[in-house]
Amino acid sequence: MAIVIGGAWPYANGSLHLGHIAALLPGDILARYYRQKGEHVLYVSGSDCNGTPISIRASQENTTVAAIADHYHREFEESFTKLGFSYDLYTRTDARHHHQAVQQLFLQLLEKGHLYSKKVEQAYCETDKQFLPDRFVEGICPNCGAKARGDQCDNCSAILDPLNLLEKRCKICSNEPVIKETEHLYFAFSKFQKELEQFVAQAKQEKRWRDNAIALTTRYLAEGVPDRAVTRDLPNGIAVPIDGFRDKKIYVWIEAVAGYLTASIEWAQQHGEELKDWWNEETISYYIHGKDNIPFHSVIWPAILMGLNNPSLPTHIISNEYLTLEKRKLSTSQNWAVWVPYMIEKYDADSIRYFLTVNAPENRDADFSWREFIYSHNGELLGAYGNFVNRTLKFIEKSFEGIVPNRKIDEAIRQQTVRLYESVGTLIEKGHFKEALEQVFYYIRGANRYFDEQQPWLQVKENVEAGKQTLATCTYIIANLAQLLQPFLPFSAEKIRTMLQLETIEWQEQIAQPTHLQAITPLFDRIDIAQIEEEYNTLISNKVDL
Ligand SMILES: [Zn+2]
Ligand SMILES: [Zn+2]
Repeated sequence: MAIVIGGAWPYANGSLHLGHIAALLPGDILARYYRQKGEHVLYVSGSDCNGTPISIRASQENTTVAAIADHYHREFEESFTKLGFSYDLYTRTDARHHHQAVQQLFLQLLEKGHLYSKKVEQAYCETDKQFLPDRFVEGICPNCGAKARGDQCDNCSAILDPLNLLEKRCKICSNEPVIKETEHLYFAFSKFQKELEQFVAQAKQEKRWRDNAIALTTRYLAEGVPDRAVTRDLPNGIAVPIDGFRDKKIYVWIEAVAGYLTASIEWAQQHGEELKDWWNEETISYYIHGKDNIPFHSVIWPAILMGLNNPSLPTHIISNEYLTLEKRKLSTSQNWAVWVPYMIEKYDADSIRYFLTVNAPENRDADFSWREFIYSHNGELLGAYGNFVNRTLKFIEKSFEGIVPNRKIDEAIRQQTVRLYESVGTLIEKGHFKEALEQVFYYIRGANRYFDEQQPWLQVKENVEAGKQTLATCTYIIANLAQLLQPFLPFSAEKIRTMLQLETIEWQEQIAQPTHLQAITPLFDRIDIAQIEEEYNTLISNKVDL
């Protein structure tokens, strides 16, 4: 059985911030967990390098689209690597393999009769002398009355047609666009209405999607899926491989979501694998993204796969709510964000991963504040987990010359540990990462209580046998923490494995006792709480008022 995990493709037009990581981190937890369990995992993503915003920026900054895309693609790769993201392939949408594969998919859709051409009216700017891509028409959402871009309303998440916007404006020059006739290719979505309804009903019944994905998709389908244009007048992107349309580009919503498949094709080719061993009816697939991307993964991508007769429809949709910052909505334009390159320079990757999992925006928006972040690091990571590991191993180093006593492990603790693999694993598979990590930390707090109650520092003086049993049990707990936390906190898990000379990474109880400890170093350093104010002030002073 293959597990395919697709992380959303960040747009290569600006640095990643913590909101992106909060939305994408579940993908890495899943990939690490399933590999550890011995499953066949393919975890793919890449940088979205096409589309209008990069082109506009390139001309403003007097540089090229490729230069901007290269810069951010490299920065994204570095950010993901330093945060421990374990993609099997992290590629980009301006890669040759992606262009070729998308053009082939497009021709297959045409051959199967799912594309048709249609004369349409489109917004045209007389000042800028060009047809306006959807995002470059702005106005009022006809659905909810909020300010919206032509492609989608951020307020109510409706997918929009720019011509339906009220009070239309050209984003480039702010003049009102005129409406002109042009010809585009359309995808016959409406043919898939029934099939999509069944598909969503089944996901709902089996509780495989997040509630927000079910609710939004159900509402969307109830309105009836309209056919949608799949070609656009865009300055960069993938050329339409069909006569009469060659000066147009394949619209990003079909092209970017196809990246999960094109990246898999490329990975299979690089590794001498057959794609059908990975994308078939049995495949379990997880799609990881923020809630603004739901319809692309719950309606558009499944309909394209149905059109291609590809049996590997999305099984799990992990669509996160938003992360707020100090109780306010993140805003890149106002620089109200914590940027990943800054964060990974100053803080431990496991601290970031811990905070964004325990405070994950799983079912409702969650908040990042410097106070909570630093207190959670000092209190939970260092205070509970780091200290338990450190005080146990330091004690063995001091009292037993670093040789772990070989004694029988406390039976109740063994049973609890075995059960934990079961329950944490089930929670991860169902997409409940926060609860999964909380269970492991509940276990850690229990381990600290056990240490305090046994009082090994007295036991070694009064009853050395009892002291040895306590320390053997505590080391057993630590060895299992290195396994149980590997999907969540891979860097500290690795440090433990080095100290205990553990070689295997498995999703099951570890009984083998390590004999001689390697140099004991603390898993985490304390963060000075004066940093809370310092970071908060930096955030405030960097904020741009628009
Ligand atoms: Zn709206
Ligand atoms: Zn204009």
